[in-house]
Amino acid sequence: MENAVLITIGDEILSGNTVDTNSNFIATELKNIGIKVSQILTISDEIETIKNTLESALATGDLIITTGGLGPTRDDKTKKAIAEFFHDEIALDEATFNHLKAYMEKRGRLEILERNREQAFVPTKSTVFQNHFGTAPCMMMEQDGKLLFSLPGVPYEVKPLIKDQIIPYLKEKFNLSYISTRIVSVVGIPESILADTIESWELALPGNLALSYLPVGTRVKLRLTASGEDESILQKLLETEIQKLFPIIGDHIFATSEDKIDKILGEILNERKMTVSTAESCTGGELARMITSNSGSSKYFLGGVVPYATEKKIKILKVKKETVDEFTVVSEQVATEMAKGCQDLFGTDISLSTTGVAGPGKGEDGNEIGTVFYTIRVHDKEVTSKLYMPHLERQDFMYFVSQKIIQDLVGILIGK
Ligand code: ATP
Ligand code: MG
Repeated sequence: MENAVLITIGDEILSGNTVDTNSNFIATELKNIGIKVSQILTISDEIETIKNTLESALATGDLIITTGGLGPTRDDKTKKAIAEFFHDEIALDEATFNHLKAYMEKRGRLEILERNREQAFVPTKSTVFQNHFGTAPCMMMEQDGKLLFSLPGVPYEVKPLIKDQIIPYLKEKFNLSYISTRIVSVVGIPESILADTIESWELALPGNLALSYLPVGTRVKLRLTASGEDESILQKLLETEIQKLFPIIGDHIFATSEDKIDKILGEILNERKMTVSTAESCTGGELARMITSNSGSSKYFLGGVVPYATEKKIKILKVKKETVDEFTVVSEQVATEMAKGCQDLFGTDISLSTTGVAGPGKGEDGNEIGTVFYTIRVHDKEVTSKLYMPHLERQDFMYFVSQKIIQDLVGILIGK
């Protein structure tokens, strides 16, 4: 199995109404078993287009995976195109029909609509992988040692089909090796110095282990990828090599497993039994969303406010009117007072505040777009910082600022 081609079928994606998340998911899953994706194509739901694309895809890849266009509606033509392409007929498949019937009965739709019955018709040469989360089956065609999988488009149907059925099938059929990855997050050393510092460790890594550097904001992530037959052996190997990093750069390592900074924060807060609250202006709740996106966050996140209007900052967070008058609302002083007010309001160990101009409209008081002040207050100590990012879109701005704050907080908590 050399490489794969992914094909997304549907006008919805071409028109920009839907973002193609399926390809991203499938490519990641394939990478984990060592299959490289060489092309990702998006095409319209037309029989000729589908057939032509299948032809060129089969010339490039050993594995083709299509998603979309398998539904019971008229605009879904993929199945017909596949049958024509492989010079096959479509016929009712008993097992698929029974599966469909049981699926619909479970959902209280006893009489099967003629439309849905049609979904149990598949190319006679295909192997069916039953869909447990929808009515369109997944079909596999095989030709000259090459495989084509055709899946429905709905992401929550695609994910289990890929993860639970197709990946195990491919691993077994092609005797693929297992790929295991760990990420070590490092703070406080620039990438180039880090590379020099760990050079001898890197050179001594076993041959089935690969290292890459991913600088992200103020961190560098070291990604270690190992490949081999046995998953548990790989994991032990990764752990052993990561442990060897501690005597070299231990002071700078703040995580060796979970990649996401908000999860790391959660682990630290849980361990220390600390609580946090947020007072957000220009991030509009994004920071709170990020913190609460982890299950178990109710243990440490007590609450947040979004006092957008200046008068609400004064009323809810007890920001002084004189401070606003003197320094403007987007200022270090206001951020600091917001954090203090927030800590008092929620009674938390830590409070986080943001005030800024996300843009793209003009900011109040002539503050430059993309300016933000944020305060991290831990017990009675606080740090206020300024960021200036005029180039970011509003949503990205909110996201970036929130990430940065969580990153800084983790840094403060672990003393970096
Ligand atoms: P259905 O049985 O629901 O009709 P289908 O196989 O016909 O499934 P489509 O009609 O192409 O699939 O897509 C169904 C829905 O799934 C779309 O409305 C879209 O929201 C979503 N979808 C389709 N393709 C993708 C994709 N590549 N990435 C993310 N979402 C997608
Ligand atoms: Mg459809």
